[in-house]
Amino acid sequence: MARPCAGAHPLSPETCRVCWWCLDRSSKGRAYRQLWSEPEPPGSGRVAASIVGAVVSHASSGLAKASDEEKARRLALCLACPEVVVDGMGEPRSCRACGCRLRIKASWASQTCPRGAW
Ligand code: SF4
Ligand SMILES: [Zn+2]
Repeated sequence: MARPCAGAHPLSPETCRVCWWCLDRSSKGRAYRQLWSEPEPPGSGRVAASIVGAVVSHASSGLAKASDEEKARRLALCLACPEVVVDGMGEPRSCRACGCRLRIKASWASQTCPRGAW
């Protein structure tokens, strides 16, 4: 069965107790993810590797920033993506595919979406 709130709103662990289990690292969280066919959140090693990769490519780009328009375009695509985790205001917080913080990732010109959306 799908997560009961899937389709009703993006993954929102700060405002929804159902969504909260989708990111919980305990065995209970894992059991709920299996029940709802939700992906496992990226492990801390994978998140660390993503962050290091992002920082290295950002540094080699000369710390180039994306324009405000490009950042807004990227975040709008994230909001429509099943991998997005939103904050309590419904704004993109992080990406389940790479584990990166989206407001930072979207503002660095060198970055790309791990699913090819931008
Ligand atoms: S970076 Fe890509 S995969 Fe991650 S939430 Fe945004 S659109 Fe989805
Ligand atoms: Zn929910």
